[in-house]
Amino acid sequence: PLVLGIETSCDETGVGIVRGQTLLADAIASSVDSHARFGGVVPEVASRAHLEAMVPTIHRALDTAGVRLSDVDAIAVTAGPGLAGALLVGVAAAKAYSLAAGKPLYGVNHLAAHVAVDTLEHGPLPEPAMALLVSGGHSSLLRVDDLTGDVRTLGSTMDDAAGEAFDKVARLLGLPFPGGPHIDRRARDGNPEAITFPRGLTGPRDLIDHPYDFSFSGLKTAVARWVEAKERAGEPVPIADVAASFQEAVTDVLTRKAIAACTAAGIETLVIGGGVAANSRLRQLAEQRATKAGIRLRVPRPGLCTDNGAMVAALGSHLVAAGLPPSDLAIAANSSMPVELVRV
Ligand code: ATP
Ligand code: MG
Ligand code: FE
Repeated sequence: PLVLGIETSCDETGVGIVRGQTLLADAIASSVDSHARFGGVVPEVASRAHLEAMVPTIHRALDTAGVRLSDVDAIAVTAGPGLAGALLVGVAAAKAYSLAAGKPLYGVNHLAAHVAVDTLEHGPLPEPAMALLVSGGHSSLLRVDDLTGDVRTLGSTMDDAAGEAFDKVARLLGLPFPGGPHIDRRARDGNPEAITFPRGLTGPRDLIDHPYDFSFSGLKTAVARWVEAKERAGEPVPIADVAASFQEAVTDVLTRKAIAACTAAGIETLVIGGGVAANSRLRQLAEQRATKAGIRLRVPRPGLCTDNGAMVAALGSHLVAAGLPPSDLAIAANSSMPVELVRV
């Protein structure tokens, strides 16, 4: 099927077009620059930016794909989770296009879409698969028995998401928002073993009570204390070493638990999705550990890890191909939509 996907859950207005699982267009307009000086996404600003960018971004995607709206078989849209006002703009637009063009509407889950986008690059996902979802708002281990409707959370973060930890640590190192890519870049010149930061929820008791859960707020505090102590001593903060050591702590725990979950469940495929999956050290460490454990690793290229419309189109296309019914035109945006709810 030819599917147009609309994404507006945060600060990216994304419109993707796929035919089957072939990517034809992935247009993006981001309001990230308007939020940078606030050190985080401002919901009202994001909503207004989506409103302005929506129609031009849809036209840009159609132009790039070389198709007309009348050619499209279905329209998919992120129904949640995300910022309520931001989601609303995408859902309203999708409904309007669906109604006006007479196309079925599919409301989809943003988190499931972060996982589904990988099939655009690597083909059908062998199920069951394990998914490590690491983004700005989530860090979870998911068991995926069916990408179109059977996804279960095995564990998730008890406090901060991995991306949130990257952004907060970047901020205290004086790096711009969003900080993940900056930490990644600065860490390349640093020593990941310079400072031993805590690995959250990896103690013997934790591994029994919370084998697949994560915790990053203690790590963030440890980095803050370490930096403060340096500053108090009047010594320069070795930003590259702090970035590399922090990044090592996060990616060590993420990959260790993801591989352990695969091994325990006898699952041979691990897919990583979400913005933090763009992290170069996470990709490298996951590859090393997956190879050693005999697990097939799938990670989309960095540009498809962060929010985009292609991921929504990819999941929508799977739903259409599976013969699932479209959503009701009365669907609402659901800012706290659980990943188990793949579609509405
Ligand atoms: P969610 O998907 O949970 O709703 P979101 O959509 O806001 O959250 P994504 O766009 O999926 O988040 O991911 C954004 C996050 O990814 C940010 O926290 C950003 O810092 C982080 N990120 C992006 N690139 C990298 C990188 N190279 N290294 C580490 N983190 C990164
Ligand atoms: Mg973003
Ligand atoms: Fe996201």
